[in-house]
Amino acid sequence: AGAGPLCAAARAVIPRFWRGKCFSSGKEPAENSSVTPMLRHLKYKIKSTGPITVAEYMREVLTNPAKGYYVHRDMLGEKGDFITSPEISQIFGELLGIWFISEWMATGKSSTFQLVELGPGRGTLTGDILRVFSQLGSVLKNSDISVHLVEVSQKLSEIQAATLTEEKVPLERNAGSPVYMKGISKSGIPISWYRNLQDVPKGHSFYLAHEFFDVLPVHKFQKTPQGWREVLVDIDPQVSDKLRFVLAPCATPAEAFIQSDETRDHVEVCPDAGVIIQELSQRIAQAGGAALIADYGHDGTKTDTFRGFCGHKLHDVLLAPGTADLTADVDFSYLRRMAQGKVASLGPVTQQMFLKNMGIDVRLKVLLDNSDEPSTRQQLVQGYDMLMNSKKMGERFNFFALVPHQRLPNGSHQMNACKSKPPPAPVAGFHELAWR
Ligand code: SAH
Repeated sequence: AGAGPLCAAARAVIPRFWRGKCFSSGKEPAENSSVTPMLRHLKYKIKSTGPITVAEYMREVLTNPAKGYYVHRDMLGEKGDFITSPEISQIFGELLGIWFISEWMATGKSSTFQLVELGPGRGTLTGDILRVFSQLGSVLKNSDISVHLVEVSQKLSEIQAATLTEEKVPLERNAGSPVYMKGISKSGIPISWYRNLQDVPKGHSFYLAHEFFDVLPVHKFQKTPQGWREVLVDIDPQVSDKLRFVLAPCATPAEAFIQSDETRDHVEVCPDAGVIIQELSQRIAQAGGAALIADYGHDGTKTDTFRGFCGHKLHDVLLAPGTADLTADVDFSYLRRMAQGKVASLGPVTQQMFLKNMGIDVRLKVLLDNSDEPSTRQQLVQGYDMLMNSKKMGERFNFFALVPHQRLPNGSHQMNACKSKPPPAPVAGFHELAWR
């Protein structure tokens, strides 16, 4: 993180697997049948009130404040359970930093610039973005920059603070407050931590969510001759320490989230994602800014994508709950529907196309030209391949953005505008980047 923007810094050894690669329906052979504290908690819950929805199962397993998978561990990187793009290559965060500056410039260079990241992991991505901000300090010099991190994990918030803040300035902690931690970045920018997006100050903001929406709880439904039936998690009557999927005997309330013209026979819906998109849309429409969302997902076409990861391998989603990551592909068509009206959406476009449009080839060349170290050069090339190759992350991951209507050429503002005014510049990444 200390390396200057022109230098290439060493990153994790790139594993062969990452979360977006395969699908699991919980049918993989059991590898670890240990009875975890989370399993005991869930069994107690199911015995008291009956089978639970997959959404409730995911929420408990991932973010239960006492035993949740995300709350007390560092699962990222080569020794963890999965690796993400910012952990693979510094170029990823640098290009996203340029995207935010480009949108800030295109929307009138507001005097305040809030960078808000949802689910910041180890803080690597924000660290790479802040390095770009420092490098382009002359462009940003008149703006009041602040960083706002939305994170439920105690453990990861500590790692983020270690990555991002100046160690000589002590952190301010207040567990009972909506802003539970505050610090100052190495370049003097204030950083605040929250558990909920609602607590982040409303102001001109640029929002970022990378591999965040895929961990939000999904409800799963199966089409049956009697209509949609929700998939629930129950205790296996044959083996008392084992969970199993069952179908709800009658309709459940979450069925309201399924579109009336749905043609698939199995669907996953994520109401929490809808609530967050509506909040982001409202904020952007009222105060300005943009949101950039990157994740693996589909445009309303896939069916059963719920899967687990442990030690870079697929993991039975119902086995040893609390020890493995749970994830489901993001349905971008649902996000688009939730944003509709308030703001315009762009994408999804593939990661390969987005990074290409953002100038990844030029950036790679600059870093290679500035590095004499063979191992660093090899890592840069391998990282590029992992991010861009169609068979690796290039086509599985997608970029999606929310921008104010007036940001696009056919926005309402433009229709009323004076004819002589030039149309807004294209949104970088979603169109080929034209440097003006
Ligand atoms: N963006 C990072 C990390 C992705 S892992 C990267 O790409 O490397 C998912 C992140 O979201 C973790 O930081 C996890 O602790 C956080 N998270 C999970 N559920 C959350 C929730 N409901 N609210 C806020 N953060 C959450």
